[in-house]
Amino acid sequence: MPRSKISGITDKFRAVVDEPYEKLKQWKEVNKKKIVGCSPMHFPEELIHAAGMLPVVLQETDETITTGFSYIYPFFCGITRNLIDIGVKGQLGFLDGLIYSDLCVQNRTAASILRQNLPSIYVEFAQLPSSFTKEGVMEDTIKELDRIKANLEKLTGRKIDDKSLKQSILVYNKNRSLLRRLHDLHRADPKLLPYRDMQVIVQSSMLMPKEEHTQLLEELLSEMEGMKPTSVKGSRLFLSGHLCQSPKADILDLIEGVGGVIVDDDLYTGYRHYAVDVEVNGSPIQALAKRHLEKSLPVPTRTDLPIRWEKYLVDRVKASKAQGAVILVVKFCEPHLFYYPFIKEALAKACIPHIMVETEHEVVSLEGVRTRLQAFIEMLR
Ligand code: SF4
Repeated sequence: MPRSKISGITDKFRAVVDEPYEKLKQWKEVNKKKIVGCSPMHFPEELIHAAGMLPVVLQETDETITTGFSYIYPFFCGITRNLIDIGVKGQLGFLDGLIYSDLCVQNRTAASILRQNLPSIYVEFAQLPSSFTKEGVMEDTIKELDRIKANLEKLTGRKIDDKSLKQSILVYNKNRSLLRRLHDLHRADPKLLPYRDMQVIVQSSMLMPKEEHTQLLEELLSEMEGMKPTSVKGSRLFLSGHLCQSPKADILDLIEGVGGVIVDDDLYTGYRHYAVDVEVNGSPIQALAKRHLEKSLPVPTRTDLPIRWEKYLVDRVKASKAQGAVILVVKFCEPHLFYYPFIKEALAKACIPHIMVETEHEVVSLEGVRTRLQAFIEMLR
């Protein structure tokens, strides 16, 4: 039965996501390779891959924050507090390197706290430009990527030449193209997979060797592409927000449990992660810089977006034919909170109903959220 094969493959992805750091520790013991963690969103993992190491994107875990309270303000977002907490407790000690890249004030703070507290690990801060239009921005980006490339070469003792970097870009482009195929399949028939499984598949791509993930993804797609589409019953929703991390599965289940059907998204652990490839012609470092500066989708962690984020969102919601939008805002996420009033106004002007749901790292009762979501879905019918 294809369904059981699909569940079998998604279970393999889930096993990686459920205990990300434990699984990585085990992987390192078996494979005897270095692992470098990246903060979410902006750093091109291809550079680490080309140096023969395993790049992973740090993920928030469910762990209760304890020791970390002494290091970080309680009004910082959940992923920042969580990563600092597990870092100071020694759970990131298996990493050989840690690269933070500029996306918000909290991310900057996390990098300096972890640098102080993990002295045996190479901790880097990638100052990639947040202004995309200022003069010389391409040169600045290439210079910064070249600087980090030289440090990665020192860490691994291996030269990152253009040939190996191009090869890594091809490996990453292939994985992105398969994720886009999965996205298209799910968009056409959202009942193929619960949205929580879509998240697991994308998150696992950030934690597994890309080649292994690609192989499993190819198996999954060959099963899914043979399935008959089902008709969509429920209210079509566009999911937006959670700028740098995956929403918790219970919120996603809640949305689907009250009759919502998530037909598209703009999440980092979703469409934004795999929407755009890196060019394969010319200088590979320049191609990585170009993806960052000219090809990435709008997100509010930049100072001068070529397209306003709220306009981009309205266009995406309309294109998805969603009846409404669910905006998930991480508590204390400054970039998102800064832009939310613009989003609210733009959606209202475009006559797109939306509901804003604030999420927290700490476990909270979801009953209030359930009632609000139920009322929102009723309104859309
Ligand atoms: S973008 Fe938002 S959620 Fe992500 S680290 Fe910054 S403040 Fe936290």
